[in-house]
Amino acid sequence: MQDEYLLKGARKALVENLKKKGITDELVLNAMLSVERHQFLESFLWHKAYEDIPLPIYCDQTISQPYTVAFQSQLLSVKKDDKILEIGTGSGYQAAILDAMGAKVFTVERYASLYKHSKSILNKIAPRVITYLGDGFKGFQQYAPYDKIIVTCGAPEIPTKLLEQLKIGGMMVVPVGVGEQIMMRITKMADDDFKQESFGLFVFVPMLENIVK
Ligand code: SAH
Repeated sequence: MQDEYLLKGARKALVENLKKKGITDELVLNAMLSVERHQFLESFLWHKAYEDIPLPIYCDQTISQPYTVAFQSQLLSVKKDDKILEIGTGSGYQAAILDAMGAKVFTVERYASLYKHSKSILNKIAPRVITYLGDGFKGFQQYAPYDKIIVTCGAPEIPTKLLEQLKIGGMMVVPVGVGEQIMMRITKMADDDFKQESFGLFVFVPMLENIVK
């Protein structure tokens, strides 16, 4: 199973599965086909890398289920050269998918050890991605404003600071709730005017404050 050829076959099957589940954005499907999810996992998990399930990574965190990654990426309707901020780097897989879709990606993680680990993987696989150790509730002011923001941990409520770092016309996709989350898409119509849409229930690890050294 650890043979590259078999892994490629499993990846193709995953993409077919995602199409059946309603993913239609060609940029998303092509990225899911090209980015090797197994590279973001420890080798003992490679045989499960292309099953549509979340898997454990360092610091008791998880790499999101491929369907969730595809669904959030599709909701963002990514355009080439979009500037995208991700909150919750985790394994780095979601950041690599957005990079493969042609976006300029900035990603924030609160765990120092996970940040270092995913930074080294991203440096090899998607070297354009900018990684940052920080508290995602504060965003990443240095490169703001962004065209899109994606939060990949469960926010207890809509993180308002992040909305400030969004361009007018920009969108944020964020799972909101404690325990389980409603997937929300918020579009910034004007500085004080936001459109909210919701897209069903998901389960993410919680968004927590402060950096962990
Ligand atoms: N996008 C990731 C999903 C990782 S799980 C992937 O593709 O693998 C969510 C991540 O969000 C965890 O690594 C967790 O540590 C991180 N996280 C939680 N709260 C955060 C915060 N306030 N700022 C930055 N990262 C946070």
